[in-house]
Amino acid sequence: MIQQDINYYKNFDSIAKEVLALLAQTIEVNTFFLSLLNPIQSFTIKSFNRNAKLICEGDIFPYNMVYCKLVVENGLEPLVIPNLREHELTSGHPATKFIGNGCFMGAPLINEGEIIGTLCAFDIKPHVFKEYDLILIRSLAALISHTILIEKGIIRDPLSGLYNRHFIDNYFDYHKDKTNDELALLYIDLDHFKFFNDSFGHDAGDDVIKKAAECFLQTVPEGSHVARIGGDEFIVLLHPSHCEDLMKNTQQNAESLLNHLSTMPIHINGNDHFVSASIGISFYPHNGTEMGSLLKKADRSMYMAKESGRKKIQYFHQQ
Ligand code: GH3
Ligand code: MG
Repeated sequence: MIQQDINYYKNFDSIAKEVLALLAQTIEVNTFFLSLLNPIQSFTIKSFNRNAKLICEGDIFPYNMVYCKLVVENGLEPLVIPNLREHELTSGHPATKFIGNGCFMGAPLINEGEIIGTLCAFDIKPHVFKEYDLILIRSLAALISHTILIEKGIIRDPLSGLYNRHFIDNYFDYHKDKTNDELALLYIDLDHFKFFNDSFGHDAGDDVIKKAAECFLQTVPEGSHVARIGGDEFIVLLHPSHCEDLMKNTQQNAESLLNHLSTMPIHINGNDHFVSASIGISFYPHNGTEMGSLLKKADRSMYMAKESGRKKIQYFHQQ
């Protein structure tokens, strides 16, 4: 999740660059890098190489092959290895066999108690790190971790875990910069949602929102983005351009969303309840080239879907 979000963090890039440059001014090794981890791959998001290029931005390494894995296994404290060939953790490591020898120091990036990445210094020559180097890398890893936490908070809705309106704006700008691909914007509002709040209380209403969010995430095709932009209002951005028929593809996805949602049982006080939704749809670039105008048009269409009886799909048509 964090890995794909990082593209839409507005301040992360400049802070990461400054951190790596500061490390480079202080610690006398060749390479510094930031990586994000998952059990399958380790992904380098920023790197700084002083002389020879040892690690590039965007490099993806098998998780078992990287020293970053050792940082994760080491826990919350930085891992310091002045001589890779002499250290018990790295002497027989496949990466050491490949590079010959060197040094490594890595501190964990922590997000909500979980190690999500590392901030590392590395060289192909052994090097004795100073106590101050260790303090610096630990503090800067904490700074990067906080930056990630703040940036995540800016683009995610805390209740549902979905993206929020801010993300939709960021994503749309990013999309327009990179490609002219068409997008379908689905504006979804739950039908009679107030019934849950009024009958069972606000917490039960919150649970309905979370269940609907899960259902949308499970239903949309890969590469789509789902956001919660208000009380019971959601946005799905679909990329139907890979399919031959944009309308048909959007219609199929919108129908799946409605069907899955309205047949999903919601357990409250020992009983099963059901909720449906109304969907308004606008297309980029056909109905507009700005997010504000696309949202307005999809919202207006959603209200027409409500007026025509709810649990309906309505496309924007120029009046
Ligand atoms: P309609 O079919 O016309 O959409 O009827 P509705 O009852 O769903 O009405 P509407 O969409 O206008 O109501 C949304 C309600 O959601 C209003 C507000 O009290 C409630 N709400 C907004 N944010 C939250 C939240 O975070 N949690 C809960 N439980 N309720 C919320
Ligand atoms: Mg509603």
